[in-house]
Amino acid sequence: MPQTIEIKTSAGIPASTGTLVIYVAEGAAPTGGAATIWAATGLDWARVTRAAGFKGKQGQMLDLLAPTGLDAARLLVLGAGKPDASASPSAWTDRGGSLAGKLMALKADQVAVLLEEAGATPDRIAELAAGLRLRHYRFDKYRAKKDEPGEAAVLAITLHVADPAATDAAIANRGATVSGTLLARDLINEPANVLGTLEFAAAAQQLTSLGVTVEELDEPAMQALGMNALLVVSQGSARPPRLVIMSWNGGKKGDAPLAFVGKGVVFDTGGISIKGAAGMEDMKGDMGGAAAVTGLMHALAARKAPVNAIGVIGLVENMPSSTAMRPGDIVKAMSGTTIEIINTDAEGRLVLSDALWYTQQRFKPRFMINLATLTGAIGVALGNDHAGLFSNNDELSANLLAAGLATGEKLWRMPMGPAYDKLIESRFADIKNSAGRPAGSITAAQFLLRFVNDVPWAHLDIAGTALGSPTTETNTSWTSGFGVALLDRLVRDNYEPAPAKAK
Ligand code: MN
Ligand code: ZN
Repeated sequence: MPQTIEIKTSAGIPASTGTLVIYVAEGAAPTGGAATIWAATGLDWARVTRAAGFKGKQGQMLDLLAPTGLDAARLLVLGAGKPDASASPSAWTDRGGSLAGKLMALKADQVAVLLEEAGATPDRIAELAAGLRLRHYRFDKYRAKKDEPGEAAVLAITLHVADPAATDAAIANRGATVSGTLLARDLINEPANVLGTLEFAAAAQQLTSLGVTVEELDEPAMQALGMNALLVVSQGSARPPRLVIMSWNGGKKGDAPLAFVGKGVVFDTGGISIKGAAGMEDMKGDMGGAAAVTGLMHALAARKAPVNAIGVIGLVENMPSSTAMRPGDIVKAMSGTTIEIINTDAEGRLVLSDALWYTQQRFKPRFMINLATLTGAIGVALGNDHAGLFSNNDELSANLLAAGLATGEKLWRMPMGPAYDKLIESRFADIKNSAGRPAGSITAAQFLLRFVNDVPWAHLDIAGTALGSPTTETNTSWTSGFGVALLDRLVRDNYEPAPAKAK
């Protein structure tokens, strides 16, 4: 069995436990309860920290085994970094991730963490708890041997805090978003032989248990709507396409919903314009946008967010076969725009074009944000530290950029404009689906803009950030689940009525 993690809170200074954790700010000695604990060891703070080179920097650790004067088997003194009341929430998420990494490496099981410093508000401790769970995540269901030698079945962590009730509420609320991120990771990590279009749709159906309404459009339904751009991608695969519509109505009845649209190509071979073999296995993650939308809908429903939100995901598989689309084919999208297919590997924008048009036409949303592992070019431009942001709306862009900084899921706004739009003109149709290598991410965005009908819109190209994620304090998995925390934060900070102040 893989190890599970349990997080509880309690008031006061921890009594006996396996591993006791205290934090000390940079350049400072232990204070408050941490000072009491340190004093019990009888050790000289100045001598020990000098010998260990411990300065209290974030990530630094003093590891004392069987300390005299304490019941704990181990005392960990961790650096809290510079005391900075205005630290970004993500600094606390990272702190939790860092702690989980150390506890797992030490094979800890029963852990008590003293968190009583001035800046340790319930919201920040909730970020730390989020970081613990995000770092603890592993995708090992296909391994026979799931546990590390010496690993306990449960990593049980008690956070000793000033206000346990308020902290529990904050942890539960933030935890709903963590669960959404972990759902997105699971969907993306799952191989394409297991997670096809129908299996993904079934996973989305699970959200009904949280109060989400889930509808599915099958191939005939999409044919009737004229969604030929989405359907042409699917026609080479034996797996049927689905458009899944998830609705969460937590806001005022009649309020225009926030709309999130995801590219869900469960596997992208490139089609007839087939990709090279090297790295093609990563294309099981070409549904990363749809996974983020599904994870976000999970998060909003699980924390009962007071907003109306729609999640729309286009699920297809892009395969080469005798029924596959060909370069040179021309299809008419639901909007009436005709599209010449230049490159069958530029399939994501075809899926999104009909999904975006359908979403704005049916729901008249307040805004539309689509997420897609759309272009390799965005990874060339921005690497894996920022996702590309393309938008027709400055306010929405500013809100997204701020949410990126708060969550560490960072965005960088890219240019758009008529000169780029001109590049997608086709010799035979209204537009073409590929304009080649120059400005490849931007011309993809210009293509999408043709289908948003002046609705405030943003496109997040997450091809560089959703897959092959670097190891960070909060993620050691192949995918970080990029986008769930970002969009949940966007909604929390800008589109929800301010919560009633605590009494
Ligand atoms: Mn492709
Ligand atoms: Zn693709």
